[in-house]
Amino acid sequence: MTLPLRKCFATCRHAVLGACLMLAMFASARAGAASETAAVKVDLLITNGLVFPMDASRGTITNGFVAIDGARIVAVGPAADGARYRATKTIDARGGIVMPGMINTHTHAAMTVFRGLGDDVADRLRRFIWPLEAKVVDAELVYWGSLHGMIEMIEGGVTSLVDSYPFPESTTRAAQELGMRAFIAYPMKDDFAPFRAYVESLRGDPLITPVVGLHSPYAETPERIRAAAKLADELGLLSTMHVAEMDFELKELREKHQQTPIEYLDSLGLLGPRFLAAHAIFLTESDIALLAQRGVAVAHNMVANIKSAKGVAPVLKLRAAGVTVGLGTDGPMSGNTLDLIGQLGYVAKLHKLDNKDRTVMPAIDVVEMATLGGARALRREAQLGSLEPGKLADVIIVDTESTAMVPLYDVATNLVYSASPRDVRTAIIQGRVVMEDRRLLTVDPALVRGKVREIMQRVRAVVPDVK
Ligand SMILES: [Zn+2]
Repeated sequence: MTLPLRKCFATCRHAVLGACLMLAMFASARAGAASETAAVKVDLLITNGLVFPMDASRGTITNGFVAIDGARIVAVGPAADGARYRATKTIDARGGIVMPGMINTHTHAAMTVFRGLGDDVADRLRRFIWPLEAKVVDAELVYWGSLHGMIEMIEGGVTSLVDSYPFPESTTRAAQELGMRAFIAYPMKDDFAPFRAYVESLRGDPLITPVVGLHSPYAETPERIRAAAKLADELGLLSTMHVAEMDFELKELREKHQQTPIEYLDSLGLLGPRFLAAHAIFLTESDIALLAQRGVAVAHNMVANIKSAKGVAPVLKLRAAGVTVGLGTDGPMSGNTLDLIGQLGYVAKLHKLDNKDRTVMPAIDVVEMATLGGARALRREAQLGSLEPGKLADVIIVDTESTAMVPLYDVATNLVYSASPRDVRTAIIQGRVVMEDRRLLTVDPALVRGKVREIMQRVRAVVPDVK
């Protein structure tokens, strides 16, 4: 059977099955019975899964399969259709949920080394985090901290992240060694030459995508924001920044420019379809309309925002206005954990509470933001965010055997309200099995934990100075 026909079976099963069957009969008559039964060789086959592809149907396939060849998915469908594939490696999903890997659209993975510090400190960023970072952050700390953070993400079902932190080359090396898909926001300085060299160095890298990284409206000069926006346009790259997150940010911009953060960034030319705004908590109605008009995407960091007691980003209004929203954890000093699966329930529940309406933010919408929403926010929805033939094979298997996952009436509901990161059993990124049955295959997590504990001693020695 030809590839398009397999694709047809995989994608059309609910909507136009009849048309698919007619096509199948036509193809069968044309190609003859022999080719129908011929084995198709693939690298990897996932069988016996409760496949939740997040394709347009939003349906599930009981006892389904996913066939992967090289970096890509070649077929998704019911077991009967999977029988023709002969794979170098087969993973029995044992009834687990087979779904797209989740996308963490805003984080600072290296900050795992600071996790648990300054948790309940007021004005923590300026009084605690920045002085601490100035004393201890170096290339080695970022490398080990990033590895540790990315391991936690993979163990929690995240297969792509957007990371912003100093020493981005260390983060890049960590992602490459781990086999993690990473969008690395390179902290921009006024001289763009190092960033251009970084972009060049990554040409052809299948896992790493450079991003123009800016911190926030309050930490960057208007000149740098304007220039960085032009550079992102010139290179066709994403840019990202913390936006409308801090009360002092709003106050400063109002006093200096009589503008909201969104109006200010628009006046500097930053807002557009390749800009990813992290947080976006404090938005006016006209800010929301402007974000929609410019095609800006938002990284929603609910758990970090709950802990910082800042407020609830108006995600329902953003989505209603047509703004793409992905989910993020923010750094591990902000939300403390880096898996998304443990945060999904908070996203659903806090929006219900905030709107005093239990019908809003249904589970399927939360799963969508964690997968396809993230892919759209990164302008990679043609390759990521769902399990469909032709897309990159970023796949996770979530166990359905833990106590809280039984019974299972609705996959999205169990994922959002019942699942824990420990239910994630297997992770595949770019067609490569990175974690199988909870065992990481690319990097030794115990070694990384040991290094992080060593770094903790160094950090601990300077903490009294920064309090
Ligand atoms: Zn952040």
